Amino acid sequence: MRLLPLVFTIAIAAAQPRQVVITIDDLPRGGDNASANDLVSIRAMTAKLLKPLKGTHAMGFVNPGRVPQIGEDGLQSILRMWLGAGLELGNHSHTHRNINQIPLAEYTADILKAETALQQATGKRPVYYRHAFLFTGKDEATKSGLAQFLQQHNYTVAPVTIDNSDWLFAAVYADALKKDTAQAAKIRQTYLVYMASLFAFFESAGKKVAGEDFPQILLIHANQLNADSMPDLLQMIGTRGYEFVSLEQALRHPAYRLADGYTGTSGISWIHRWGKAKGIPTPGEPPEPKEIMELFRNRSK
Ligand SMILES: [Zn+2]
Repeated sequence: MRLLPLVFTIAIAAAQPRQVVITIDDLPRGGDNASANDLVSIRAMTAKLLKPLKGTHAMGFVNPGRVPQIGEDGLQSILRMWLGAGLELGNHSHTHRNINQIPLAEYTADILKAETALQQATGKRPVYYRHAFLFTGKDEATKSGLAQFLQQHNYTVAPVTIDNSDWLFAAVYADALKKDTAQAAKIRQTYLVYMASLFAFFESAGKKVAGEDFPQILLIHANQLNADSMPDLLQMIGTRGYEFVSLEQALRHPAYRLADGYTGTSGISWIHRWGKAKGIPTPGEPPEPKEIMELFRNRSK
């Protein structure tokens, strides 16, 4: 009889949902540069993107200077839509500058510049910083200088564990929407299959590095592809056994206190960074599908 509670305990443990935080970067709109960047288009895209996200604790990371043509008031109206959906906003720098190409002081000034717009929208200083391009500094001096700056300004770093090339799909999707709805639908299908493969990849790599499941942090971008795909994307994530949690809750897991062992010019998942610090090699991500790469290459010709 004494076995019974143990059996129940195991059953409950097995049924524990996985956890994931959805983080959406490059607000007000990014990753599909071909799309219209006027206020009406951005409002419509944002409304569609946010509708299924209510109650998911998702977060938006803002570049207040990304789309200057919508003006201060335009930006504030978009940010109010995010806040109205119950989602938190974080700092992603004013204009998404490349820390590998500019002096640290110039880069940190761009972070501070973003605070004003965020403070105006939310009434408080942002808590989280998400590195533009996920670049954290090409050498030790830059990396530690930036880390120190963020600490001094009371920022918590928002890491990414499930990194991916959604921006690449978003670019070819925006082109397809203009001329070929059948092709656009095909791209959305391919995107879902691709994203599921990235989840599988980082679940396995994460477990190898951290030794157990931990709350994952997904990075995607604010664009039409994700607006049109969100219900399907949420369903795919749900069928993998995930519940949605806040960034604050996810970061309480000890995995997020592992050292970041990567210094260099790439923007990579924190799972790779922890692997480097621990001496546990992680393989490269699954490649983007050939047909998407081909559309992308033809586009840039
Ligand atoms: Zn970004």
